[in-house]
Order: sequence, then C-alpha cells, then structure tokens
Amino acid sequence: MQWTEFSEWGRRVADWAQDYHLTVGDRPVRARTKPGDILDALPETPPETPQDMEEVFRDFERIVMPGITHWQHPRFFAYFNSNAAAPSVLAEFLVSAIAPQCMLWQTSPAATEMETRMMDWLRRSIGLADGFAGVIQDSASSATLAAVLTMREKALDWTGNTAGLARNKPLRVYCSTEVHTSVDRAIWVSGIGQDNLVRIPTTGDWRGMDPAALDAAIRADRAAGMTPAGAILCVGGTSNGATDPVAACLDVAESHGLFTHVDAAWAGSAMICPEFRHYWQGIDRADSIVFNPHKWLGVQFDCSAHFLRNPDDLVRTLAIQPEYLKTHGKDGIINYSEWSVPLGRRFRALKIWFLIRAYGLEGLRDRIRNHIAWSNDLHNRLRATAGFEILTEPMWSLFTFRYAPQDVADLDDLNQRLVDAINDDGRIYLTQTRVNGKLAIRFQAGQFETTEQDVRMAYDVIAEIATGLA
Ligand SMILES: *Cc1c(COP(=O)(O)O)cnc(C)c1O
Repeated sequence: MQWTEFSEWGRRVADWAQDYHLTVGDRPVRARTKPGDILDALPETPPETPQDMEEVFRDFERIVMPGITHWQHPRFFAYFNSNAAAPSVLAEFLVSAIAPQCMLWQTSPAATEMETRMMDWLRRSIGLADGFAGVIQDSASSATLAAVLTMREKALDWTGNTAGLARNKPLRVYCSTEVHTSVDRAIWVSGIGQDNLVRIPTTGDWRGMDPAALDAAIRADRAAGMTPAGAILCVGGTSNGATDPVAACLDVAESHGLFTHVDAAWAGSAMICPEFRHYWQGIDRADSIVFNPHKWLGVQFDCSAHFLRNPDDLVRTLAIQPEYLKTHGKDGIINYSEWSVPLGRRFRALKIWFLIRAYGLEGLRDRIRNHIAWSNDLHNRLRATAGFEILTEPMWSLFTFRYAPQDVADLDDLNQRLVDAINDDGRIYLTQTRVNGKLAIRFQAGQFETTEQDVRMAYDVIAEIATGLA
C-alpha cells in the first residue's frame, strides 16, 4: 500500500470507527468466541506476496471483530473502564501518523514540552499541590515499579543499582491487603522479594490500612534488623474500592523516614471533582502518586499520570547517559526517558490536550458525577430488592453485591453461575471478586457514553436472570 492511498483508507476507517461507536450498544458486550476460534481462522503462514487492503479490511471485520469484547460499550460494567473518547482517538491517529520517538527533549521538543504542560494541567485538575512534577508512564504498573525502584535506591543509599541487593539486610515494603497485583510484581522485579512485602490488615468502612498496625509492623521489622524502605497506599482498590486513610498512613510512614507511593489508578480521575478529594485527604505529603487518565478520564489507552514530589530521586534511580543519548548545550531541559524504565516513549500528551480542550473539565466532571449517581441508584434498588445483599457500599461508582435467596446452600456457586449467565446474555458485562471470602459481584459504571437508561437496564437484567436461576 502506498501513502497516496492513505487518505481514502483513512476516511473509510474513520467512517467505520464512527459507525462502530454509534452502534456498539447493539452488540453483546463480551466476545462469544471459543478459545482457538480466532487462531484457527488465521493462516498458519504469512503471505509471500502483497495482498489487497480491501481483502485485509474484510478479514478484519470477519475474523477480528467477532473476537472483540467491547470495552467502549455503554453497558460495560466489568473491571474498570478503559475509555477512548473521540478527541483522544483523533490525537492517537495523528501521533501514529507522525510516529515520533519522544525519549529525549531533542527527539521532539513539542512532545516533551506538551507533556510538561499537560501533566501540570492534570495536577491542577485533581487538586494536587504546586511543586509536584509529573511524567506520563505507559501504565500504573510501570509507575509503581519506578516508585519501588526509587524507594529501594533511597533505602540503600543509592547502591542497589551498582552493588545489587545480596549484601544488604532485607528491605521491607508495606501495603494493605487490598492493593493491586502490580505492587507484587514491582516487588518481584525490584529484587526486594515477595516475602518482604508486608500486608497490613485493613479496618473501617473504606477497608483501608490500619495506621497503628503499620506503625507496629515497621517497629517490629526494625527491631529484627531489617530495613523498612517504603509504603504503598491504595486509593480506590480494584476489588471493591478499598481506600487507605492517607493522612494517617503518611504520618506513620513519614515518622519512620519511608518513601511513599499512592496507587489511585482508577479513582484518581474522580479527583477532578473537588467533592471527592476528602477520600485522599493528606495526599500532598506523598512522595509519588499514580492515576490512569486511560481509565475514567477518557484518554485513549495507554496513558498513566505519575506525579513526584521530588523527581530528582526518580531520575537518580533510573537515568543512564551513554554518549549517544546526551543532549549537549541544552541546560535545564527534561529528558523524560530518564523518568521511566523503558527508553522509547510515544507522544502521549497530545491525546490529553485534545481531550481536555474538547470536553473542558466541566464536561469530564459531569460524566464522573453521573456515573457515581447512577451507580448509587442501582445500589439502592438492589438493596431494596428481596434476595439481594450488598457486600460493600459504593466507593465512587463501585460496589459489590450478591444474590442470596433463602434456602440456597452454596451461594458462591449460585453467584458465579449468575455472573456467567449475565455475561452470556450479552446485554451487560460484570465481573466477580471476593469479599471476606464470599464470592461477590462487582458493579462499576464509568464508560463515557453510558446513560442513566443503561444503568437502569443493568438492574432489569440482573433481577431477571437471578430470578430465573433460583
Ligand atoms: C488498573 C489498576 C492498576 C493497573 O493499571 P495498569 O495501568 O494496567 O498497569 C493498578 N492499580 C489499580 C488500583 C488499578 O485499578
């Protein structure tokens, strides 16, 4: 294919994409393929000669689309939404056409300077104090890894990268029982080791880390000759929205000189609404904070916002400058590749710029407020319906429940069958989790095009299918 044919294909793809988004609500949310269906439809060997784009595109619709779970479906209530608002998709289209490598300032000054400005827009938008500097990471997992490497290096007085960990006392990192698995993996990759990730029990309605237990664990470790290095806090946990008492936990961590990282991957977007900021009161004292604009804010995947109170610690941990990466004669510039584990970086800031300008913060706040209000409404309706039991109260737009009619012995089995039946039905999509050992059904609303009607339909589908099963 030649670039001279690109605009025609670009228009066709744009028409297709617009039509897809306008009609995606008519499709079953979750893919209905069986394992191996798509693999079997793909030839075992690549073509030796060029094939017509017409044929490629036809196969895309025929083979690929049936195997897609529709994350942009207005009744996708599973996991957390990964939104792709139209303006951010346009920006990605432009970026993929320009395809710049944005590792250094000089490899595309616009990308670096746009990133600096957009991260500051985001900082102001979520009400973080002046003085935090931001960088876009590809995922919250990467941001958490970068933070864990930084806490490791600080605790080892910057010798870990050179000398390794073997000769040191064990480093200890603290988190609640509700943190995301990306924390475990960061601990593995950093060489700190799973056995040194200390799980602090949770307490209270928000199921947050108990600050007194955190303090006791740090003291016990120090007394045992180990080195407490950092604490990882959770604001809006994936399973049920668990949220640590940020101010109290930071007080404890600070009193012991620990580096602190806050994972607000999902809930951070909601902080553009001032009325939700009490959930992370005290946040300005954290060393490192991550949230994912690619979840609730509407920025096309991938785009993770990582804020640092002192980026020098991160750069000291991750920067490496062979001659071929040096930028001579330009003092005071930022090379963002020194702020992240991967060297190469895409131009991700453009889609934030397009999105925020196209919606305005008020437009984005409206969506989040609606999701939360509608989700609370569904929660109230389920609570008032005989046979249903709320397991965790709403945190933002997320709550968990189960169907517990009388005289059913195995409620876990019943609820797993209920989730499966709902997802096979196709009108809505939900996932399950565990709450105090019980199988729970998770509901969260966060898709950009979701309407109140869509959430009301969720009630009808859940009630109808549950009654049929019992
Ligand atoms: C989604 C999520 C993550 C992981 O985000 P990635 O960007 O996919 O790495 C981490 N923590 C929480 C709380 C999340 O909701």
